Formats: sequence, C-alpha cells, structure tokens
Amino acid sequence: MAKILIVLYPDPITGYPPTYARTSIPQIDTYPTGATLPSPKDLGFTPGDLVGCVSGNLGLKDWLESAGHTVVITDDKEGADSVFERELHDADVVISQPFWPAYLTAERIAKAKNLQLVITAGIGSDHTDLNAANERGITVAEVTYSNSISVAEHTVMQVLVLVRDFVNQHQIAASGGWNIADAVERSYDLEGMRVGIFAAGRIGRAVIERLAPFGVRLSYTDRFRLPAEYEEKYNLTFHESIESLVTEVDVLTIHAPLTEQTRGLLNDELLATMPHGAYIVNPARGAIADRDAIVRALESGQLAGYAGDVWDPQPAPADHPWRTMPHNAMTTHTSGTSLSGQARYAAGTREILENWFDGSPIRPEYIIVEGGGYKGTGAHSYAEKPTKDNQGV
Ligand code: NAD
Repeated sequence: MAKILIVLYPDPITGYPPTYARTSIPQIDTYPTGATLPSPKDLGFTPGDLVGCVSGNLGLKDWLESAGHTVVITDDKEGADSVFERELHDADVVISQPFWPAYLTAERIAKAKNLQLVITAGIGSDHTDLNAANERGITVAEVTYSNSISVAEHTVMQVLVLVRDFVNQHQIAASGGWNIADAVERSYDLEGMRVGIFAAGRIGRAVIERLAPFGVRLSYTDRFRLPAEYEEKYNLTFHESIESLVTEVDVLTIHAPLTEQTRGLLNDELLATMPHGAYIVNPARGAIADRDAIVRALESGQLAGYAGDVWDPQPAPADHPWRTMPHNAMTTHTSGTSLSGQARYAAGTREILENWFDGSPIRPEYIIVEGGGYKGTGAHSYAEKPTKDNQGV
C-alpha cells in the first residue's frame, strides 16, 4: 500500500461546497488536435465540482482510502514545520497543482526516500526539480492538454482587457463615475495590431486560432517550426528567436514552460527592444519575467500594460509589486483551474494513478521525466536538447 501526499489550495473562505453558478459543464469529446481526454475507470466527483481545493480532494480520497492507501491532504506547504515537509519523508506519491505548487526542491527530494511518482494535476512541472527527479529515477507526469484551452481563453481575455483598458473603465463605472474621456484615453481596438506568440505549443496555438478572427497580424517563435500549411492558414510569420520576435509586436503573449532557457527572459534589455507602448500577457510562469524590469517598463511607459496570472513565488506575498504596478490586469493563478479545467485534470490525475497501481504505462504525452531522462512531452517541451515526440501538432 502506498502513501499519497496531496497538496491543494485552501477551501473557499465562505466554506465548502460553494454555491455553484451553473448546474453542469459542457461535455467535451476530444481536444482540438484529436487527442483524447482522460479516461479513468471511474470518477470520485461530478464534473463541475470545485475539486482543486482541500475538501474537493480531486475526488481521490475515498477511492484511495478504500483501496487501503494512506492519504494525506493539506494546503500547508511552506517551511520546515509545514504538513508537506513533515509528511514527505515516507510518501510514495506527491500530487500538487501549479496554482498552489508543492515545491519539490533537490533538498526535499533527497529527504523523500520512498518517492517514486510526482503528479502535476494540471500542466507545468517546474515546481519539481527535474534534474533531481532524473537522478533518482522518479517519474514526473502532468495532465497534458487538460487546461490548455482554459489558459488560451484567459489569455485572449487579458489581451482585450489590456488593449481596451477594461480595468480602468470598470473601476469608473463601479465607483459611480461617468467621465468618458478618462475612460477612453488609453483604449484602443485590437484589430490591426501585431500579436507575437512566444512558444506555439498547445496553448500558443489555441491563442493563435482564437485571436486570428480579430483581424490581427500574427507572428510566433518556438523551438519547433509549425507546418507550412498551418502558418499559411493563420498568415503566421515565423521568427528564429524571441529577440527577433519582440521587435515587431504590439502585443506579446508567453506560452513556454519555465526552464533554464526561459527563466528571466523578459528582462530590461529585451523589453527595451520592443516597440514603445507594447502589451505583454504572460500566463506561462512568473519567473520567465524579471519582476522589477516589468515594473520599470510600465512606469516608464515602455510597456502600456502587463497581465497574466502567474507569479514567483506562489502564493505571491501581499506586497508583490505586480499587485499594484501601473496598468496591470493581473489575476491570481486561476486561468487553468476553471471548474471545467479542474474536471479534466482531476480525471487525468486519477487515470495516472490507476495506471501506476495497475503497472500499466502512463500515456506518453503525460510523461515529463521517467527512468532518469526526459520522455514524452518532457522530451519535446522541457529538455535542453528537445526531440519532437508525441506532439500531435
Ligand atoms: P506544450 O508542451 O504544448 O507547449 C510548450 C511549447 O513551448 C512547445 O511547443 C515547445 O517547443 C516550446 N518551448 C519550450 N522551450 C522553448 C524555448 N526555450 N523557446 C521557444 N519555445 C520553447 O505546453 P502548453 O500546454 O502549451 O503549456 C505551456 C506552458 O504554459 C506550461 O509549461 C506551463 O508552464 C504554462 N501553463 C500555465 C497554466 C496556467 O494556469 N496559467 C496552465 C497550463 C500551462
């Protein structure tokens, strides 16, 4: 029997379960590329339930306990005295979500003598030290595609929110004002703008496909060039590097994983080469941007706006400057954890666990590292020297 340590975000302040706005969520049959959705043998929740918090437990608790496993579920994840740190030493499996990441540093992995499997319930496994996991032969898996469309929708929303200057306009309306000039002095149409996509994986392509009908001029860069027919369909211009891409965009959206190659990429030097008054939307990872360089660029007017939902670290401290910097439309890390997204990644987490306990293979597209090396999506998206593997582009 295994010990499963699950770190989830805290319950709603108003209690659990919440009052839901809708009674159901739409049934999605396949992902846009035809890739199939998670198909566990059973679900311990009703799709549409809030399962990403402690009481929701990803719908796993009853199933795991009835099979005889030990289950620890906590939101207490920081510091030597945290439940996570205290329970980690003999855990076989650790599960957490990027919204409330259980940071599995090399030191923590060294202490976790029994650890064999780390599951990211969602997408983005940078909160686990992948080199340390490789050295120990630990499997790291995530639920690839589960919330890619959720994030793409949030990205499109934040692009429009920045360019139209929605936050300012809403604040004027909500506070009883009616000065139209104040409301529109920074408001533009997106139509005709140049939009650059940094990394055209599942989210980046979904953003391209959703923004194309706005009549924007699209360009992108990625370690892998997209097929010619795809570029033609969306009238896409390819750039060899982000340095080249950013010089010709009014809006830049970020969709690469956080790796040693992407950490700190959006720094003073790169931002200075963007056209004056550009916008950035980053729902990938906070640490891809240099925190203070973003603040400086907004204060000087080099950037007209910055939005996204990812911070470094998470949760962000109350005095994090991105909460109050000018012309920001930040959200907390929510884009990938809509109730719709939760249903898919909770189902995928259960499927991974079922495979693990049965001794059957986990889907290759869910694997980041396995057997001491990058495999599946990890080989394509995370490895320093990538291989095109299981992409279904
Ligand atoms: P994906 O694996 O489908 O795509 C990642 C793409 O990044 C690939 O095309 C890869 O070639 C490219 N890439 C990797 N390193 C690069 C580099 N140095 N330069 C250029 N391109 C590079 O993943 P996805 O589903 O599109 O997700 C992308 C990232 O978005 C995740 O890794 C995660 O960090 C983040 N994410 C955030 C949320 C959220 O809730 N905000 C949810 C899901 C994913």
